[in-house]
Amino acid sequence: MRPIRRGDRGPAVAEIRTILVIIGLLPEPAVGVEYDADTETAVRTFQQSRGLSVDGQVGDETWRALDAARWRLGQRALYQAVSEPLVGDDVRQLQERLLEMGYDVGRADSVYGGSTARAVAQFQREVGLASDGSCGPATVNALRRLGRKVVGGRPQLLRETAAFHASGPALVGKRIVVDPGHGGPDDLGVVVPDGPLRWTEADLAFDIALRLEGRLAAAGMRVNLTRGPNPAETMSNRQRAKLANDLGADLLISIHLDGHPNPAADGVATYHYGSLSGGVTSTVGERLAGLVQREIVARAGMRNCQTHPKSWDVLRLTRMPAVRVDAGYLTSPVDRARLVDPLFRERVVEAIMAAVQRMYYPVEVDVPTGSIDVSKLRATTAAAAGAR
Ligand SMILES: [Zn+2]
Repeated sequence: MRPIRRGDRGPAVAEIRTILVIIGLLPEPAVGVEYDADTETAVRTFQQSRGLSVDGQVGDETWRALDAARWRLGQRALYQAVSEPLVGDDVRQLQERLLEMGYDVGRADSVYGGSTARAVAQFQREVGLASDGSCGPATVNALRRLGRKVVGGRPQLLRETAAFHASGPALVGKRIVVDPGHGGPDDLGVVVPDGPLRWTEADLAFDIALRLEGRLAAAGMRVNLTRGPNPAETMSNRQRAKLANDLGADLLISIHLDGHPNPAADGVATYHYGSLSGGVTSTVGERLAGLVQREIVARAGMRNCQTHPKSWDVLRLTRMPAVRVDAGYLTSPVDRARLVDPLFRERVVEAIMAAVQRMYYPVEVDVPTGSIDVSKLRATTAAAAGAR
């Protein structure tokens, strides 16, 4: 095709001028079908800004760049088209925003390919949208809401994400460290007297951890607890993190209960590594925290006290994705009545189990919160292992 240039007239010129107006290089209105001096200046500016050869003419390459430049994120639905991938500045904006937030989209190349679709699906799942990998109005709104809060290049955390994905989709053979909080003679955590008895965070956290260990091991994971039921000495969180590092764990889940002077405080909260000021968070840990939180709220019906970034030792010093769940307030009569019931603790364990499983599901087969039948886990993971 002959380049369109100074002096040309016609519908193609009108379209070029329209795009130049959209991207702010020509003043409105875009009437005119003539490639005049202003058009040529605008095209030169555009070419310069895009690193194209600056000749003031619209050949194939400049046309493709102009055609891509007309799109702003949110103006059209984006999806992975198999035959001819969608290309545009809106795709690049989407990719850059996802990269900023720590999602692995590969390069921001303006092409809506497989890695972009997977990153969109992962983002959708984390914010509770239907995880279809396409970017429609709901996803754009969620990106606008969250994009400004979560910023900052996070190369080391992207590496963590990459390492996690490289470790494969199956639970089988993964090593998980389950850390019951507190324990030992000097550290019982939250203690609440109950007539002649007393309930302690250390004991209940250990019971939950032990149940979780059984479930995870049955699913083919290699599980380590950081402590036994009655450790002779108190173990610091620093020591717990070191233990998990030394074991080369793939995940760490720390189990605590909360306490508050006000008995009205109740609910479940999950924590991942991050600092509120620095914008640094653990992408994979953040995702696991979100899954744990949502599954517990859905399955156990506790108040949702959300997920939060923290720089506590057990989250900061661990080299694998790590979360700490505070599974209710022992000081709340409501939560306590539930937590002392072994059947309820079993539901909490099932919820954590489902969250761990969802971490390792490929995005395409993820399921809605609360829907995994944990009893079928063994069959599912065995099939996944066999398929590899
Ligand atoms: Zn605690």
